[in-house]
Amino acid sequence: MDLFEYQGKQYFARFGIPTSPGGVADTVDQAVAQAEQAGYPVVVKAQVKVGGRGKAGGIKLAADADEVRTHAGAILGMDIKGHTVERLWIENASDIAKEYYASFTLDRAAKVHLGMLSARGGVDIEEVAAEEPEAIARLHVDPTEGIDAAAARAWVDDANLDPEAREQAAAVLLTLYRCYVEGDCDLAEINPLILTTDGRVHALDAKVTLDDNARYRHPEWEEFAATEVEDPRERRAKEKGLNYIGLSGSVGIIANGAGLAMSTLDVVNQVGGTAANFLDIGGGANADVMAAALEVINSDEAVRSILVNIFGGITRCDEVANGVVEALGRVDIASPIVIRIDGTNAEAGREILKPHLSDRLRARPTMLDAAREAVALAAAATGEGAR
Ligand code: GDP
Ligand code: MN
Repeated sequence: MDLFEYQGKQYFARFGIPTSPGGVADTVDQAVAQAEQAGYPVVVKAQVKVGGRGKAGGIKLAADADEVRTHAGAILGMDIKGHTVERLWIENASDIAKEYYASFTLDRAAKVHLGMLSARGGVDIEEVAAEEPEAIARLHVDPTEGIDAAAARAWVDDANLDPEAREQAAAVLLTLYRCYVEGDCDLAEINPLILTTDGRVHALDAKVTLDDNARYRHPEWEEFAATEVEDPRERRAKEKGLNYIGLSGSVGIIANGAGLAMSTLDVVNQVGGTAANFLDIGGGANADVMAAALEVINSDEAVRSILVNIFGGITRCDEVANGVVEALGRVDIASPIVIRIDGTNAEAGREILKPHLSDRLRARPTMLDAAREAVALAAAATGEGAR
């Protein structure tokens, strides 16, 4: 679960990471009220779960109430990379001397935590990372050992932070690590972590992703869940009792069982495609479930082809085949379907499909063949769309 900046800052504050005083506002009047409380000048900040708000015009300094009105009015309702701004965070503006970058995340390949720290933080950190990777000091932290004050101090030296910032920055990093571990974050990022002109180090932005697997031990996360904007595709699938994950490619995937769904995703990638989503119809799926799954996938506009990969166990392939046929009769499926069915009652299923096979519904004997076909169809459709 991703948090909004204001929620991330509230989370940081719980652990003692210094942030600026401020408050949320959903209207222009509330923005002015929050500004009066925070003290001018303030910064008016769009709350959307996407980076680059500053460059998109979603972060503005305001010296007085009139300026707050102007900026809050302009930013509320603004579209930032497909996210509509419905809420603002207003905080007392800081005088920035330096902008640093600090984060902790998991390095899955190395099986340890990874801290990243740079003296070159701010809105261009991506370019810094790409062009001057040596400007980012990386620190692997063994989760069984953690990080101590000496390691944090060596790390800020390594990153070449300004001498007057080092002691406070090291303390912030220790706290950020505690927040990341005890707070069960997948990512805890501060960009920028600033040094103010009067020599204080604090967090000016917050990007926090919470680990959903730890939700059971964090009842306080409910307030974050309440503001989550659900992917409409995921909501529709949930209503039908289907497990759906939205992705950003072009091949829609339907499989039975999470394991098969994920290996199907891998095979699609392996043959050069990208998945638009994957939908696990579970075990024992019948015709109704299959029809509902196709409807959900069909409602995803990014889908250019649909790959149905069923290995019948409890799920019977004849039922699945009936579901596909029924769905084709019920809804106008926009993309061609490639289906591979095997396992329980596969022969019967193939017989059911046979009279319906066409360019729009193709059957392939293996997962690899089917994936190749679906990826080729998606590529052809995407190519046409681009012309
Ligand atoms: P992002 O663009 O979504 O990462 O939003 P940030 O919260 O990181 O803000 C972007 C940039 O706005 C920062 O890097 C700062 O340069 C600037 N900014 C944000 N808050 C303040 C502030 O209190 N004072 C000043 N002077 N600049 C700020
Ligand atoms: Mn930022």
